[in-house]
Amino acid sequence: MRCPFCTADDDKVVDSRPADESAAVRRRRECLACGRRYTTYERVEELPLVVVKRSGVKEPFDAEKLRGGIERAVAGSAIDPSAVDALVAEIEELARATGPEVASVVVGLAVLERLRQLDPVSYMRFASVYKGFEDLGDFEREVVELQKATAPKVRRR
Ligand SMILES: [Zn+2]
Repeated sequence: MRCPFCTADDDKVVDSRPADESAAVRRRRECLACGRRYTTYERVEELPLVVVKRSGVKEPFDAEKLRGGIERAVAGSAIDPSAVDALVAEIEELARATGPEVASVVVGLAVLERLRQLDPVSYMRFASVYKGFEDLGDFEREVVELQKATAPKVRRR
């Protein structure tokens, strides 16, 4: 470790203890060149969560982008921002549990499944954007499924 005082790269660890509720290790080091002491912290490198598109392209999971898509879908509906927050958190948790790589279709379908329960209009909007980019046939099948799920029973006249 390069000494912050004299920039020599020669030190010994004089003390090592857990820090930040054991999320880190704090080390006191002594520079063997100038004798001064400094502190370093070692942490686990967070695994990046990666979304794999159907095309095979990989991109970092972006919770803000996901939130933006959901917010556009629920605009004007009765779904409030705290419900959107909860939904984004739930989807991110699910993606991390699946990760470090998760298919975009898994993320999209998880959002759809929850929106379908919350609000049919938002569900359709999200489906039209999400499916529209990838497969129109899937979207049409979704519409048929939704109509089946929500259509009132036909009354006898
Ligand atoms: Zn030094």
